[in-house]
Amino acid sequence: MESSVGQQKRKPAEFTLASVSQLPLPSSTSSQSGSPSLARFHVDSGVAELRIQHVSEPNESKSLDLLKAQLFKLSEVQSICVTEASESNKEDLFSKGIIIQFRNEEESKAFHCAFEQWKKEADFQASQLPNGTVSASKSKFDAKIEASSAKMYFHYYGQLLHQQNMLQDYVRTGTYYAAVMENRADFSGQVVVDVGAGSGILSLFAAQAGAKHVYAVEASEMADYARKLIVGNPFLAERITVIKGKVEEVELPEKADILISEPMGTLLVNERMLESYVIARDRFLVPNGKMFPGVGRIHMAPFSDEYLFVEIANKALFWQQQNYFGVDLTPLYGAAFQGYFTQPVVDAFDPRLLVAPAICHVIDFGSVKEEQLYEIDIPLKFTAAVGTRVHGLACWFDVLFNGSSVQRWLTTAPGSPTTHWYQLRCVLSQPIYVMAGQEITGRLHMVAHNAQSYTLYLTLSAKMWGPGAEQGGVLQTSTGKMELKEPYYRMSQPQVQTQAFAATQDQQSQQLMQPQDMNLQSLDVEAAEILRQELENADVQIQ
Ligand code: SAH
Repeated sequence: MESSVGQQKRKPAEFTLASVSQLPLPSSTSSQSGSPSLARFHVDSGVAELRIQHVSEPNESKSLDLLKAQLFKLSEVQSICVTEASESNKEDLFSKGIIIQFRNEEESKAFHCAFEQWKKEADFQASQLPNGTVSASKSKFDAKIEASSAKMYFHYYGQLLHQQNMLQDYVRTGTYYAAVMENRADFSGQVVVDVGAGSGILSLFAAQAGAKHVYAVEASEMADYARKLIVGNPFLAERITVIKGKVEEVELPEKADILISEPMGTLLVNERMLESYVIARDRFLVPNGKMFPGVGRIHMAPFSDEYLFVEIANKALFWQQQNYFGVDLTPLYGAAFQGYFTQPVVDAFDPRLLVAPAICHVIDFGSVKEEQLYEIDIPLKFTAAVGTRVHGLACWFDVLFNGSSVQRWLTTAPGSPTTHWYQLRCVLSQPIYVMAGQEITGRLHMVAHNAQSYTLYLTLSAKMWGPGAEQGGVLQTSTGKMELKEPYYRMSQPQVQTQAFAATQDQQSQQLMQPQDMNLQSLDVEAAEILRQELENADVQIQ
């Protein structure tokens, strides 16, 4: 805090005040109360302060902690500062008011302005610095996540209906069950930590697979329901302990041989729970312990979807009305148009919409550092398989359970049985034109923020063709900024449920029986194969 606040050289730091009097005014007003004083903003041991010193008594000073101080105007030249204060030779803090008399209105204004700037800076530093006065007492989670976001987040997961929604994603829960049961050797006789246990379902699976003991850590009120569910399964209950709290904060009596967790959000990283999974690894897992899942991959491919593009663009048409109850709405049309493209689209799409084989970005949960998840920068390079208009980037993810008996992938790929994650598409407001065989380059830059999500910056480029293309090599480039926390759920709710359940229940058994043997190369073999087959059918629907 010190260096940063201290560097604000542009702000005036020292003021002469006509007088300073402390409230309540002492019955025998001391000589110094109403005397001229010097006020100085500065930083002492990392705390931004306002120090007031009477000109006549240079050894006596009052220090006010700016984080706790408030300044109000009483008149043009008089203000009151209310604060917790301490005197330089005493430690006790107490609330008090100080009446400040300025020499003139200009000085009053300048002082108020400096006060606000220094206070703002102090507030900012306190909220940012992990070692700051406020943050020091906070856990890693609290230090980086806004309290209001965390409150809503854990409130959401504290409700059974949302846990039920995840449990009823049979692709998801069934794959976890299969991965655990097919790899009993990894659980039998082992200490397990369930990171974000929710209803406790994965803890119960681990206990079924013979775990010696499972610690089910859950921060939301769901922990109480998990206890109830576990007690109701007495054969397993004696080997499970539910611990209510954040994995960043709780203490466990022993280290774990294996972690199990379902920390994936949309685009794998939404909700920023992967970071908690990694923190749990560093806090609880024995060296070389197992993680279920141990690897995650984000898959990306350019797509073409004229219907989707027009649907989004049309949402802004409302703002083209020139006579909406007598008001011309068109000044806001441009902003509304761009605004709709900041929402990533979540739905299940047909893999035939992909324009090139997918590439992927691998995250090894066993070795990734928590900080590496704060900012994820993925260079993009594709070869278009068809000539078309590219409307953006389609993304999905999968995770690997690298069991010692069976390797199993949980995939959310288009064309695979639908999960509650669906797929995600970043749509650009300016499509780009590509020819078959042409290279598409770009970048997906994901920046985490304190509301448990990411801002996405997407750039896609392709060389122009046509007259003069050979000489210039001019690039068409389209960029977009999307907010992962505010997606556009494109499917209506009833449809989602019917489709998801019908699809998952039908296909679940097949999915569970399929031996999956994908490797960690950058080309998504499955998507490429689907694409190849579709392209062979010559009649590609995108013109
Ligand atoms: N494991 C359950 C629930 C998965 S949802 C299942 O597979 O069905 C993720 C759960 O993790 C939520 O219940 C959420 O409250 C919990 N969670 C998220 N971050 C956490 C943290 N830092 N510490 C403890 N629990 C957390």
